[in-house]
Amino acid sequence: MEEHALFSGEYYWMQDLTQSLDVGLVVLDLDFKVVLWNEFMANHHGSEGETVLGHTIFELFDDLPEDWFRQKVRGVLQFKGRAFTTWEQRPYLFPMSHYRPFTSPAQYMYQNITIVPLSDISGSQSHVGIIVYDVTEVAMQKHQLQVAKNELSNLAKHDSLTDLFNRGYWDHCLTQEFNRFARTRQVPTLMMLDIDHFKKVNDTYGHAAGDEVIRMIANLLRNQLRATDIIGRLGGEEFGVILIDTTAEPAAVLANRIRKAIETTVTHYQKHEIRITSSFGITELNDQFTDAKHWLATSDAGLYASKAANRNTVTIQQITE
Ligand code: GH3
Ligand code: MG
Ligand code: MG
Repeated sequence: MEEHALFSGEYYWMQDLTQSLDVGLVVLDLDFKVVLWNEFMANHHGSEGETVLGHTIFELFDDLPEDWFRQKVRGVLQFKGRAFTTWEQRPYLFPMSHYRPFTSPAQYMYQNITIVPLSDISGSQSHVGIIVYDVTEVAMQKHQLQVAKNELSNLAKHDSLTDLFNRGYWDHCLTQEFNRFARTRQVPTLMMLDIDHFKKVNDTYGHAAGDEVIRMIANLLRNQLRATDIIGRLGGEEFGVILIDTTAEPAAVLANRIRKAIETTVTHYQKHEIRITSSFGITELNDQFTDAKHWLATSDAGLYASKAANRNTVTIQQITE
């Protein structure tokens, strides 16, 4: 028989081979006691074979999911077939260190695991072998790719100066909220804000000072509004806020509070103390609006009415044809 051939000659070298493999090899008997523990396991786990042999795998790894593992092994023995688990299903089976640089975000070695049934010379199942592949490198590459993807999608949504939503993404949200109203009947109100005489800030203190003022407004909006409200930087010094589940009256109260806060906030830039005011347009959504653009244009009309009324003003704008 094939198996006999394996044991008939000199097989002592087999041990050397197992020891020098660049994968982890563990053999357990049917009581889950370790009978083989190769060098890879010793190096990564930090324990020599002699100290682990004869101990159950559960004694060696406190956190090993015992029920899951027993069931997996039972399946392997019953069906005389291999079982696999990948790092994506379970990042690791055995918490062990990896050889990556200290800067690597991986705390433990990511592992793919194969469990194989092993039979003795009489052909009966006597042991299981566990093969541990170190896939930390692959896992980290995938992780970094995901981080880069998230950053990209963040960049696509956010304005780099203020980290508020940019025009494109905010417009998308505006349409979503417009459509949501038709379903939920929860009224949203749109609040537009534009800094008064902003050109003068740039002209007097420089563009960088102007940027500082824009950032101040963004922070103030973030602090004053609810997490569910959707704030966007629509252009240079123009902002749009979709106030969820809010009618025009409370929105105007809120806008006036923000208007006063802006008026009293001093932006320090170099040795300068910069003071500005701002104008607002407020429009509550109702069924008469044909689309999100119509809603936006109406709020914009309110903003320009505030500009015409000597600025530093809030105007509630009803629907215009
Ligand atoms: P009004 O009260 O009528 O709004 O007057 P205004 O001066 O604010 O008028 P306008 O909206 O026409 O001017 C906006 C200016 O904002 C023009 C542009 O140079 C400046 N601007 C646009 N984007 C930026 C930016 O990112 N940073 C800075 N510092 N300035 C910007
Ligand atoms: Mg302006
Ligand atoms: Mg403007």
